[in-house]
Amino acid sequence: MERTGAWEGDHVRVLSLRETGERKESETQLHLFKRSLEASYNGVVIVDALSHDLPIIYVNPAFERITGYFQSEVIGKNCRFLQGNERDPMLVEEIRCGLVQARDVHVVLRNYRKDGVLFWNDLYISPIFSEQGVITNFVGVINDITEKKRYENELSFNVSHDVLTGLPNRALLEDRLRQGCKIAQRYQRRLAVMFIDLDGFKPINDSMGHDFGDLILVEVARRMSDQVRPGDTVARMGGDEFIVLLPDLACEDDVLPFAERLLRNISRPYRVRGVDLHVTASIGISLSDGNIKEPEQLIRQADLAMYKAKQEGRNHFQWYTRDLNLLVSERVNLRNELQRAIEAEDFELYYQPQFDGRTGRIVGMEALLRWHHPQRGFIPPEEFIPVAENTGQIIPLNLWVLDTACRQVKQLGERGVVVPSVAVNVSFVQFQRSNFVESIQAVLQKHDLNAEQLELEITETVLLNNADRSIETLQRIKALGVRIVIEDFGAGFSSLNYLKRLPIDKVKIDHAIVKDVISDRHDAAITQGIISMAHHLQLAVIAEGVETESQVAFLMKSHCDAFQGYYFAKPMPFSEVENLFGKRMLVHEPALEQSATEGRGPTILLLDDEENILRALNRVLRRDGYRILMATRAQDAFELLAKHHVQVIISDQRMPGMSGTEFLSRVKDLYPETIRIVLSGYTDLKSVTDAINQGAIYKFLTKPWDDEQLRQILTQAFRGLDPEHSHDYGMGR
Ligand code: C2E
Ligand code: MG
Repeated sequence: MERTGAWEGDHVRVLSLRETGERKESETQLHLFKRSLEASYNGVVIVDALSHDLPIIYVNPAFERITGYFQSEVIGKNCRFLQGNERDPMLVEEIRCGLVQARDVHVVLRNYRKDGVLFWNDLYISPIFSEQGVITNFVGVINDITEKKRYENELSFNVSHDVLTGLPNRALLEDRLRQGCKIAQRYQRRLAVMFIDLDGFKPINDSMGHDFGDLILVEVARRMSDQVRPGDTVARMGGDEFIVLLPDLACEDDVLPFAERLLRNISRPYRVRGVDLHVTASIGISLSDGNIKEPEQLIRQADLAMYKAKQEGRNHFQWYTRDLNLLVSERVNLRNELQRAIEAEDFELYYQPQFDGRTGRIVGMEALLRWHHPQRGFIPPEEFIPVAENTGQIIPLNLWVLDTACRQVKQLGERGVVVPSVAVNVSFVQFQRSNFVESIQAVLQKHDLNAEQLELEITETVLLNNADRSIETLQRIKALGVRIVIEDFGAGFSSLNYLKRLPIDKVKIDHAIVKDVISDRHDAAITQGIISMAHHLQLAVIAEGVETESQVAFLMKSHCDAFQGYYFAKPMPFSEVENLFGKRMLVHEPALEQSATEGRGPTILLLDDEENILRALNRVLRRDGYRILMATRAQDAFELLAKHHVQVIISDQRMPGMSGTEFLSRVKDLYPETIRIVLSGYTDLKSVTDAINQGAIYKFLTKPWDDEQLRQILTQAFRGLDPEHSHDYGMGR
């Protein structure tokens, strides 16, 4: 490292190391220093302070490793090449001053490796003095702190950003919101806060796993960020809640197209790990009126408006209005009162019996939770259960339900009334808990109840796209001997493949499907599909929300096994249950008996809104021995079709509510084997030809009709039916 030569700078005088008698010793020492420099982990660079432009005279192997340059490439150069094209003038000045003042310098520089990759150089520069006190060299110690720097940056980024999506987090958002409010006030601009919450995200997250849910959140964040302008902020508040801040609006109307665009973009299908999913969002919007004292208030208002948007059916947006404040206080109240009610056990279980379709006997009952509020009266479960699920209060609540149902069934058993089964509703929150199976086992043991007497109703969506864990939980429940019913069946995406993997006993058809089953061809098809699918898998089927005789008849014809609904019995308090079983009540179901005994006698259904036409037709056709059913409204006709075996239908064309061709085309889907005839007073050729072409109509007749011709047509019609049965219909002439 010894060096002689002229220093061409103007501030340091030149001197060299003189050879002395101790040269030998000195050489040994030098060797030692060199070795230690070579072994150093930090890069070391030594420059000649006595030559022009401070050329490098030595670099150690660590320097080569850190910078990617070989010694041979850098000797003779000034170190500044490491800085690439960007220089930080402040740092350059700091180094220059240090060198001039002959003191140590410590700086952190952005440097570039030979391959162009940036590294952070934590650099110490020290002058080396000769014995005469002259600076002969500078030694630089280079420490690559890129990793540390990255980590620090990450840390500071994470303080203000959401780790998953990279969006600003709540803290940064509040900062920008305060700034935005000030600017809006100063420049008379409008500022909007949009609170965005995904619809139905929780079940996806719970059933598909959190990492799957995370992928959706990242994609949602990306789609939202794509929609905003520079200066707007998209932030994540946590979970599936986001906020968009629009700080510079000329007028509030500008928010509308933006909100619509956001909804449209979020609701485009998602494809994650080969699974197609639909996610929508609800948006609440609040606007600054120029003198908001507390900017965070805008977030609360937007949150309230979002809640309202959810209530109004999701996938849309809602503005904040003052009366929403009221709503929130109600929500908070409900939560508090629910807590009080749980502590006071202010609940009651009602039971709704379930009937076997063939025997009419009670096969079980469903336990339904009732809350009688001291002031507000009856609060329906659909109002408080979602709140309880949100707050976690559902756990103690459902444990109480389970405990009470088991205790009461046991109690009945001790009095000689054996309840075949009691069904208890399970919330997805409860189902996901790790000790769920143990809690059931404990309750069964506590009441010494036969496990076969307990059924758990689990909604299909809880298991949807099932994680293997759900199946495992079901298997453990099943191993206890407890039966499992999948409810809301048909509301999700029931796939046969999926269903056959589930260790379940029964499926429950949702009352939303049962409601229009006799007249809506889709609901009818779904119902029949579910029943045949379930039966193939040896599962029983129960229909819920059955309210009319015709629904029962239709479901019976479709081979549904059991029924629950107002038509048979409403949910009742425990005190009435015993009575019900005590009488060993058999349901006398006229429709069932009728359909069983009525055989397959040739039956014609007449539909016409004019009663005199019905009477006239009846007179003509009765003579031929047909059984005649008559209706003046399409809905009544559907009910009759549900209850009876009808082979031929004659319908008027022009009726209020539904045309004859429309009615018959629905009938075609519901009862494809029927023969359908239009008897019309006028001719709307288009609709009639359409209906004929679709195969909905067998014949088109005009009023007034010819009795003889009509009778002949009917004879032919019955002959044309299923040949196996045609002799049964051998009426007419
Ligand atoms: P769900 O399990 O589908 O229960 C059937 C609901 O339909 C009950 O309403 C019942 O009263 C009603 N219902 C029965 N027959 C008919 C009918 O013929 N027509 C009509 N329109 N409705 C009928 P409820 O008791 O108000 O319960 C509503 C929902 O609240 C239940 O739907 C269930 O999801 C939930 N729920 C009730 N009790 C509990 C409980 O103990 N735990 C949990 N997690 N959820 C419960
Ligand atoms: Mg239920």
